[in-house]
Amino acid sequence: MTSNREFDCVVIGAGVQGSFTAYQLARRNKKTLLLEQFVLPHTRGSSHGQTRIIRKAYEEDFYIRMMEECYKLWSQMEKEAGVKLYRQTGLLVMGPEKNESYQLCKNTMLKNNVPMVQLTRENFGLHIPNVSLAEGHAAFVELTAGVLYADRTLKAVQGQFQKLGGVIRDNEKVTDIKPGSLVTILTSTGVYRTKRLVITAGPWTNRLLVKTGIELPLEVMKINVCYWREKVDGSYDVKQKFPCFLQIEGEKSKEHIYGLPANEYPGMVKICLHAGSPADPDQRDQQKDRSDIETLQRFVSRRFPGLVPEPAVVESCLYTVTPDNHFVLDYHPAYRNIVIGAGFSGHGFKFGPIVGQILCDLSLGEVPSFDLSPFRITRFQAKNKSSL
Ligand SMILES: Cc1cc2nc3c(=O)[nH]c(=O)nc-3n(C[C@H](O)[C@H](O)[C@H](O)COP(=O)(O)OP(=O)(O)OC[C@H]3O[C@@H](n4cnc5c(N)ncnc54)[C@H](O)[C@@H]3O)c2cc1C
Repeated sequence: MTSNREFDCVVIGAGVQGSFTAYQLARRNKKTLLLEQFVLPHTRGSSHGQTRIIRKAYEEDFYIRMMEECYKLWSQMEKEAGVKLYRQTGLLVMGPEKNESYQLCKNTMLKNNVPMVQLTRENFGLHIPNVSLAEGHAAFVELTAGVLYADRTLKAVQGQFQKLGGVIRDNEKVTDIKPGSLVTILTSTGVYRTKRLVITAGPWTNRLLVKTGIELPLEVMKINVCYWREKVDGSYDVKQKFPCFLQIEGEKSKEHIYGLPANEYPGMVKICLHAGSPADPDQRDQQKDRSDIETLQRFVSRRFPGLVPEPAVVESCLYTVTPDNHFVLDYHPAYRNIVIGAGFSGHGFKFGPIVGQILCDLSLGEVPSFDLSPFRITRFQAKNKSSL
């Protein structure tokens, strides 16, 4: 294929997953186009902002296995692009001691030999000053967890993709997809043809999939990204080695909450609820529900006495959630040359490099080195509008 309208591979969506996928395809010498509806960089999807947590603390073995490989790929990207993308801070995990999720997470970590330190109620305050552990809760620290620099990552990966000869066309919305042995892609400014298509359109995934005859059970949620001001400068600062944290929710409480040390905005700690309110991705700012902020205020005043319990900054971001909170990494049920990466359910950023590798493998018809059964579309009995 030679014309600038014909490609070996087209990837739709330049968030973290599409950018890493396009980069992997270009590394394998495929003539690749990455299409993005907005001018880059933008803040309308799921991958923007300064920071994300990277961790292995999961209940499932398969995520830990993926993260083992993924840490190597993050470090490879840092070396290749010559930028720092990861900062080790550790991750404090707190949860009701007898809670099934907390125990499962701790036991999966121990079984997989993930470096961690279990804290007792007696030594908790020594290691983690300025946080109170709730009555009946236990805690451990995952040592190699930390912060990923999100905006910097997208810039680095897109830059490396271009260095490999990859083409990015932003401000170009895909308006239609016509499947076939050569897929035809219509955009706001033109028409492309490709042997292979990868759809990584985040919250807009179903808007594109309906054009290919299917829809997935994905729910788009708006998350209020809250920053809380320190009462005393430096008490929760990344430079003082304050860790990221995860509060696993109890049976009664709705407090599945995570946070990152003060870093991007001096003196402000990012603390968010791992849940939001349904939103239309094109009308995100019309969703004004603040009930999550009320939950966070109660949490901050009880558990983080050194923070002002009123958010100083509130930003917005979108989750695209599946019913089981696991991703979709699969072929289109009807078209083998269309691959879908979607439903990252608010925890996909850290997996970007490995997701890119897996979607690239699938697209090239190679067998990925991970068991993809947790990520298959067949688990949903998708509302398949085609006759297949
Ligand atoms: C507040 C918040 C905190 C999070 N914290 C963490 C964390 O600590 N750790 C972690 O691992 N993960 C975290 N996540 C999740 C992670 O950020 C997401 O899983 C990830 O960014 C999803 O990336 P994506 O590429 O699938 O989607 P997106 O970033 O939304 O990318 C999709 C892209 O497709 C483009 N697009 C859509 N339709 C079209 C079209 N028709 N034509 C052209 N382009 C199109 C969109 O404009 C967009 O740029 C968090 C998410 C949020 C919102």
